[in-house]
Amino acid sequence: MRMILIGPPGAGKGTQAARLVDALAIPHISSGDMLRAAVAEGTALGVEADGYMKQGLLVPDAVVIGMVIERIGKADCAHGFMLDGFPRTAPQAAALDEALSVAGVSLDAVVLIEVDDSLIVERICGRRSDPATGAIYHLRFNPPPADVVDRLVQRKDDTEAACVARLEKYHAETAPIVPFYEAKGILRRVDGVGSPDEVTGRLKSALA
Ligand code: AMP
Repeated sequence: MRMILIGPPGAGKGTQAARLVDALAIPHISSGDMLRAAVAEGTALGVEADGYMKQGLLVPDAVVIGMVIERIGKADCAHGFMLDGFPRTAPQAAALDEALSVAGVSLDAVVLIEVDDSLIVERICGRRSDPATGAIYHLRFNPPPADVVDRLVQRKDDTEAACVARLEKYHAETAPIVPFYEAKGILRRVDGVGSPDEVTGRLKSALA
């Protein structure tokens, strides 16, 4: 299965992708995670991306496209992948289409996780992750177990100012690619409001 998860920041893409990939036996490819790893390693790509990410801006297409297309060309993606956070712009969607058509394959599904803007800021500002396991929690909606609370960290771009910028970018750059996939007949919409388990159930039904 070759698929994409699309949705506004804080829709639960990362949480849900992590829950789905094991059952589907495909790698979870998060462009945000790849960029954060590059920032942490201090690579040239990471140094370039860091300033954009901190402000909630998109990293330039030229940087992100090469990174993700190279990743999905690796052997573990031969039978499928779940893209999370890519594509986020029309040129990224076109580049992905081109790379897949050169490889003689196509996307099976694009799932849009829908969450209203009014819920996004609260979701993002309460988000914390566990550097030891990669698990994502929410202080109110998905509370962490007491024994991990002290080691949780907050993403640098999970501040209110960066969140507002990321939402603006989502509506200006990412939402417009939805009709592109709708026209291909592979778009499925899933309500992202509810508990993580409820949303996972809806995603599984949408993919069944
Ligand atoms: P995410 O973890 O998907 O929320 O991404 C975090 C940040 O990484 C975004 O706010 C962007 O700054 C950057 N980023 C991730 N994926 C992309 C992409 N496909 N295109 C441009 N920037 C991206």
